Parts: sequence; structure tokens; C-alpha cells
Amino acid sequence: MLSTNFDRVRQAVKEAALAAGRSIDSIKLVAVSKRMSLERIQQAVDCGHMLFGENRIQEATQKIPLLAPELHWHFIGTLQSNKAKLAVELFDVIETVDRLKIAQALDKHAKNTNKVLSILIQVNVGGEQQKSGVSPQDTEKLIRSIAQTTDLRIIGLMTMPPYHPDPELSRPYFRELKELAAVLANKNLFFDNTHIELSMGMSGDYLVAIEEGATLIRVGTALFGPRG
Ligand SMILES: *Cc1c(COP(=O)(O)O)cnc(C)c1O
Repeated sequence: MLSTNFDRVRQAVKEAALAAGRSIDSIKLVAVSKRMSLERIQQAVDCGHMLFGENRIQEATQKIPLLAPELHWHFIGTLQSNKAKLAVELFDVIETVDRLKIAQALDKHAKNTNKVLSILIQVNVGGEQQKSGVSPQDTEKLIRSIAQTTDLRIIGLMTMPPYHPDPELSRPYFRELKELAAVLANKNLFFDNTHIELSMGMSGDYLVAIEEGATLIRVGTALFGPRG
């Protein structure tokens, strides 16, 4: 049952927050609904859930407009410039900005639609060749160049560490993201330098991510079950 999964994850989040001395309100659960049907997403909505993540624009155009307009959507996939217009129309937050060109495309369409768009910078803390994300060393430079845009708000950082079944091995990467965010906040590079969003942690390692300061956890399988 989906409601059992939601209850279980919510309870685990609460306990991890408490143990880490953090307020439960400081952690938002992004239910990753990629490859899940409309019916399945609606069941999650019926469990009282409002915040979802999708990783493909094509798929999102076939789902988001058919669901309640009050829902919140984060884009967590790789974005191409030619899909930026749709991304701006469909999503509240783009979590995966890792190049100036994408930021400029989003900015242009945000301006055209009179929307101020919140974004996260995706950082490749693991330095994996095949993964998206700007390197930690180049993050400051990227943020400074994006600061020239007018209709984007850089609200934080996102990362996806190298996959490993042992969540403890994600911890150093989560810690690195948090430390990088602190350095950049000291230079006033975020929209709100007293409140920086850190999107980190998935089904296998979200509890460790909460211990390390995640404010957004992106959980799919633990909520919806395996993707077919
Ligand atoms: C699929 C996906 C997730 C969720 O993964 P699970 O292991 O199913 O929780 C989180 N973040 C990103 C970027 C994803 O693509």
C-alpha cells in the first residue's frame, strides 16, 4: 500500500530529524514520481502529498497538466536548452542547472512568462565522468555568471553521489556539498544566504542525508516501489 510507504518514510524522516536536532519543517520530501502512472501519483496526492519530482520533460508534459494545479513540481533530470520553455511552464524548481547556457535559456523563458524561477545548482561531488553537474571547483564561477540573469533565484545546491548500497559511503559527499554551500553563502552567492536548500539523499541514503543537513530529499522507490 502506498499510504503505508508514505507513513513509513514520513516517520523515518521525523525520527532522523529529531535525532539530528533539526526541525521537521526544515526537511521537504520530494516524491520522485518518474515512470509512475497518473493513477499512482493521484494515490500519493490522496495520502496528502503535494511535492513531486520528475526527470523527463516529455513525460512531465503528459502528467503535470492533468493533476491538481496546487501540486508542486521539481525537475531533477538532465535539461536541454530546447526544453527550457516547457520546463519553466511546468516546474516550480529546476534542481539540475549545471551550465550557464541552460540558466540563460531558463531565464529567457521565465522573463517571457513573468515568472521568477527558483533553481538549484547540480554539483558533481563524486567527479564521475558520466554524471551531470558542475565540479565543486567551478561552482562559484558558474553561480557568479548566472547572477547576471534577472529572473532566476539560486536557492541552493543539489547532488547525486556515486551509487553504493552502503549509505555511509554517501556521507562524505553530502558533507562536501554542505561545506561548499557554506563557503558560497559566506560570499553571499545565494538568493537567501541564511536559508540554503540542499537537495541530497535518495531512497537508499536519505537518512544519512538528513543527518548531514539535507533540506530536500528525493525519494522514489521507498515510496512508490520499484519502477517497472
Ligand atoms: C530517480 C531519482 C531519484 C530517486 O531515486 P530512488 O532511489 O528511487 O529513491 C532521486 N534523484 C534523482 C536525480 C533521480 O533521478
